Amino acid sequence: MIQLIRGFKDILPGEVELWQKIEQEARSLFENFGFREIRIPIMEKTELFKRSIGEDTDIVEKEMYTFADRGGDMVTLRPEATASIVRAYIQHKLYAPDPVQRLFMIGPMFRRERPQKGRYRQFYQIDAEIFGVASPLADAQLIFMLVTLLGRLQAKNVEAHVNSLGCPACRPGFRDALQGMLAHVSDKLCEDCRRRRDRNPLRVLDCKVPGCREALTGAPSIIDYLCGDCRRDFDELQAALTALGVSYIVDKRLVRGLDYYTRATFEIQTGELGAQSAVAGGGRYDRLVKELGGPDLPATGFAIGFDRLAEIVGLQAGDYQPRPDVFIAALGSRSRPLAFEWCCRLGREGVRVEMEFGEKSLKSLMKSADRLKADHVLMIGDQELEKQAAVLRNMQTKEQTAVPFDRVVDTLKTASRRPS
Ligand code: AMP
Repeated sequence: MIQLIRGFKDILPGEVELWQKIEQEARSLFENFGFREIRIPIMEKTELFKRSIGEDTDIVEKEMYTFADRGGDMVTLRPEATASIVRAYIQHKLYAPDPVQRLFMIGPMFRRERPQKGRYRQFYQIDAEIFGVASPLADAQLIFMLVTLLGRLQAKNVEAHVNSLGCPACRPGFRDALQGMLAHVSDKLCEDCRRRRDRNPLRVLDCKVPGCREALTGAPSIIDYLCGDCRRDFDELQAALTALGVSYIVDKRLVRGLDYYTRATFEIQTGELGAQSAVAGGGRYDRLVKELGGPDLPATGFAIGFDRLAEIVGLQAGDYQPRPDVFIAALGSRSRPLAFEWCCRLGREGVRVEMEFGEKSLKSLMKSADRLKADHVLMIGDQELEKQAAVLRNMQTKEQTAVPFDRVVDTLKTASRRPS
């Protein structure tokens, strides 16, 4: 038997209802804040990710699913969404009518990481980006949205971490100080970090290897190096979060290692998933739009790890599984054509309906109705055909009523009306 690829997974009925619930909550919340959905391709030119994510990153160095297609073009399954959304923003000149655009997308990403709990090779992200707003209020809005969404979904054990990465004016000073410090603890760093030390020292700060974490206890804090403008923005972000009642931790270790990231950076972390503590991550990337050939416009955004979120929400998939309004129990072959006709008409009229098409005993049909947790059972057999009236059983009250054939569809439409 052919099994699925390691690190990939199926989301089966029974679990998928929870995913739908999360998606609905995210969509409706984001739309309330003026975000509009964008759908982007799953595959892009490799160059896009190399240029946006950066050649020195783990993703580009060793995790991308990259291959030459049959025409010889190098293509990559997207490892994240921001690069594609920025490409679309530039390519379709979405900034022309108004540079301010709030966009979101939901979909699969691909990274060839070592699979483990909370880490997959195909995983899903819920992504939101705000273009054209330099104010830290945009960052505060994103963090507020994240915290609100997690609250609505009763996510367990989560906390918001924020930091500032400074800007091209002040980050080099910090970078030098950090590099100076790293030179002293070089022998305590892991192999990756020794390599990062020269090329991308900020990345050393978020290495998860215990030895590196320990070696960095005395590392300088970027916050002490912020220039006046960055300091002011970071204060404004924190004041906005405090005013909104969002609790957060200032985490000087929180970094994104790419040059185009600036100022606010944030992460939602959980203690529920072992080593994979990040549920969502985001931040400001004021230089990326320009770097990818667009106008010089600021941007900020986040990505939620959908799989991880689904694992920590306090909701149960079972609570969202749809139950049929009616189960049609047709006894004997003479009643089946009429029962089938009702089944189709009821479904068309918005009634959730199920029916078994084969020959079954009443006992076994009632068992099916129970298993499906149907609200009503509509019974039709030879006797009912004679009387031209079906029997409708309310499965909760056990009450049974005779429903003339010509009233079946209307009666069930009324009985199954759901609050809108
Ligand atoms: P990143 O784009 O790396 O900042 O990731 C954003 C979020 O996506 C993270 O906070 C994780 O929740 C999630 N994520 C990243 N990589 C994986 C993976 N391999 N499997 C599952 N979730 C992931």
